[in-house]
Amino acid sequence: MSGGLYVHIPFCQKKCFYCAFAVSVLKHHWVDDYLSALSDEAGQCSSGTFDTVYIGGGSPSFLDEKNIARLFGTLSRCFDLNHASEVSFEMNPEDVSRAKLDALRSFGVNRVSLGAQSFSNEDLSFLGRCHDRERIFSTYDLLKVQGFRSISIDLMYGLPGQGRVQLLKDLDAAIHLSPEHISLYSLTLEAPSKFSVHPPDLPDPQTNADLFCFAKSRLESAGYRHYEVSNFCRPGFESRHNLNYWQGGDYIGLGVAAHSHQQGRRWWNIDQTKRYIERVKNGASPCAGEEVLDAEGRLRDALVFGLRMTDGVCLSQLEERFGAVIDESRQKQLEAMAEEGFLDFDKGKRCVKATLKGMLVLDELSVRLI
Ligand code: SF4
Repeated sequence: MSGGLYVHIPFCQKKCFYCAFAVSVLKHHWVDDYLSALSDEAGQCSSGTFDTVYIGGGSPSFLDEKNIARLFGTLSRCFDLNHASEVSFEMNPEDVSRAKLDALRSFGVNRVSLGAQSFSNEDLSFLGRCHDRERIFSTYDLLKVQGFRSISIDLMYGLPGQGRVQLLKDLDAAIHLSPEHISLYSLTLEAPSKFSVHPPDLPDPQTNADLFCFAKSRLESAGYRHYEVSNFCRPGFESRHNLNYWQGGDYIGLGVAAHSHQQGRRWWNIDQTKRYIERVKNGASPCAGEEVLDAEGRLRDALVFGLRMTDGVCLSQLEERFGAVIDESRQKQLEAMAEEGFLDFDKGKRCVKATLKGMLVLDELSVRLI
């Protein structure tokens, strides 16, 4: 087994108003049982070596330093993490403390993804976040002092009434901190978030597209490379864990709602924390479903996910890797998208990538290719 290891920590201090994940809010009394269940689930996996590890959520930083130690104790007992070149941990600014960072450093965490979302106190409060602008700055300083050399900042755009001027303030605040990586997501209304029930007045799609293009241009001029639809980085600081997803690689996911993929077999865990804990405690598998993709399905997925990356994909390489061919109808679909200006298609080299116009409607293009 190799590839990526993902571990899901579903706990949060509070539910953000835009959040559609099944998070467990303030369930401190579940943490102990959850970590036991994770340990049991990890024990059921065949031991393996992983290139990358990603602890995500939820809010992994909800765990205190004692439980962080327990989590990494489980992982290093069940798997060989000695060759993991990237070990990422998601943190919310309000959760960060020196003791937790000490623990993370001691267990080999070398990348922190910080959920900043905005540098405007007004917008942070609108989004239902627990931190303010000052807390982002103090947290970032602490991360640097503690020696973290690979930090990613999450930002949101497309907030009500947001124009270029407001977005520029957020971008410049992030650029000023100079993180190695910036993820930029559009605010969307997804059920069952609070915003999906009481929808705020979001910018229209054209304004949103304009904001994205503006942000891309500002980040690129500050030296960040746009390498995936929502991700920008300094050279060499791409998220290797996420690249593996987009490149159709193998990964194992542990915990509630976690997904796994091994050589075309995909499976996923149940998405309710309490049920996950009970199932594993009773010796049952937490798996809620699985599917097995044939060579053609794997090729199709690799094409669709590959178009998320600005480098795009080489069709011949995909065909060789999966032992299948791009069929005539999909080839025609790609050519049509190129004519419509959504793709750059080098027919000689058989390389295809999304144009900026295509990046803005990638979900629609994916549907056409499936
Ligand atoms: S957005 Fe993140 S921090 Fe907020 S509730 Fe959802 S998982 Fe938790």
